[in-house]
Amino acid sequence: MRARVRILAHCHFISIAVAVFSSILHLSSTASAADPDCETLNHSWKTKYYKDFGVQWPLVHFRCPTQTSEIALTLYHLEHLKFTPNSKGYSPNFYSFAKKYIEQIAYLPKDKDYPNTTVAAAGHPYEDSVLGTIFGKTVRRMTLNDIFFFTDESMRASTIVHEASHFRPDDPSHVNCSHGDMSTEIGNQACDAKFYDTDGRGSGYNYDFIFHAWVRDHLTNNELEKSVSNEKMTYLLLNRFNEYTNDQVKKWILN
Ligand SMILES: [Zn+2]
Repeated sequence: MRARVRILAHCHFISIAVAVFSSILHLSSTASAADPDCETLNHSWKTKYYKDFGVQWPLVHFRCPTQTSEIALTLYHLEHLKFTPNSKGYSPNFYSFAKKYIEQIAYLPKDKDYPNTTVAAAGHPYEDSVLGTIFGKTVRRMTLNDIFFFTDESMRASTIVHEASHFRPDDPSHVNCSHGDMSTEIGNQACDAKFYDTDGRGSGYNYDFIFHAWVRDHLTNNELEKSVSNEKMTYLLLNRFNEYTNDQVKKWILN
């Protein structure tokens, strides 16, 4: 018998208002001049992304825009982000980070538990003898939900990084929000307990924040828009962390 049990779900939530706002942005935006053409995306998908991320639907030549092409474009952005190193000579490679931790990408059109607010989930929300487990070994699978396709390109890219971070062995995961726009939802689990302003700490929202900080402060090409990342950093810091300091607010969003 196949058990379909939600055993672990680290989700990336957005508020309804943000979802609607983002979908308006998405529908009214035009393709960026930096975006690759459809053949380039198909080539990268076929020769690299499909295998790197264990995509769970058939490999076919896609048209643009389609849901598959939008996922390919997100991975293309992650692959092609170029950063100036920080003062320690370090710069992150978010594509490699995502590839390291995500074994499979699956698509779940409707999530019955969170029909309106889930962008994506990491973990293995549907443990299934065929799909979720291979020879008794749990697979690190990220599922993308419909709302993923109605968010903007920056959020899609950071969502992949967010979900990948949940597969780190020391991920502390989320807690209920003590304040901010998600705090009125009962049992929301939509915040990180504490904000850390260094790479490699905290949970998913910390990884979102640090991703946007690199885009805003270090990006040297135009794969993503710095102004969009700046807005997201402000939103995240004030709404998705239960603990942060005034100095951190000054350092990151008031400068
Ligand atoms: Zn999460």
